[in-house]
Amino acid sequence: MISVKKLYKSFGDTEVLKDINFDVKRGEVVSFIGPSGSGKSTLLRCLIDLEEINSGKVTADSSPLFQDDINITREKRREVLSQMGIVFQSFNLFPHMTVLENITMPLITVDGWKREEAKREAVRLLEVVGLSDKADSYPRELSGGQKQRVAIARALAKNPKILLFDEPTSALDPEMVKEVLNVISSLKDLDITMLIVSHEMEFIKQVSDRVFFMEEGRILASGSPNSLFKDAESERVTQFLNCLN
Ligand code: ATP
Ligand code: MG
Repeated sequence: MISVKKLYKSFGDTEVLKDINFDVKRGEVVSFIGPSGSGKSTLLRCLIDLEEINSGKVTADSSPLFQDDINITREKRREVLSQMGIVFQSFNLFPHMTVLENITMPLITVDGWKREEAKREAVRLLEVVGLSDKADSYPRELSGGQKQRVAIARALAKNPKILLFDEPTSALDPEMVKEVLNVISSLKDLDITMLIVSHEMEFIKQVSDRVFFMEEGRILASGSPNSLFKDAESERVTQFLNCLN
């Protein structure tokens, strides 16, 4: 579903992603862990075209998004990107719009959906994230966890095949974390391929098929949660996990 080969990314003279290689299968959930500054956010941002890649190859659903020496047209790229969504740590909701409008607006203005059609979809998605009763509320009237669930509903609105999460619970009070993680876990049943950056190790263990450990712009280790967390063959991974406890 996603394939990354020899990806390099620099900011000026600083190389922040170095020779990144991995494949994610359809419906698979993979997580990225690692110290601050190791390149996790930059990697997700490169995959969804929010950052320019210096070299390498990225394909999503067998279509190229970036490839050295090959000019991929903007239309082609947009087509691939339309199947992908991202949820950030900060919810990025429009404050002057209701919850329902936050979900319908991009569908209507960007994707040309009819208002009624968009509304039906938004109502359905609010049910998925357990917020049917908040359709007419404004973001300021919601808890952090509820706001993040609206952001997830909005990301789901284009029926994406691939969803990226960059620390979706880092800005939340501890009591709100679980409700958001539960919603993300429930998306596994929708057969959505998910790439998750998170520091919630218990959640990562439960939800991930595979975990990648990043450090200094490289993937240092990867494996099933069991192999990576229990019998971490890499001393560095063990050290990192111990720091979190
Ligand atoms: P954290 O866990 O703190 O979120 P991270 O693993 O997501 O860290 P990134 O945000 O990807 O790390 O940053 C990787 C490196 O790239 C860091 O050294 C950071 O300073 C640098 N970096 C990120 N964005 C930019 C930018 N827009 N311009 C210059 N340097 C950047
Ligand atoms: Mg980050």
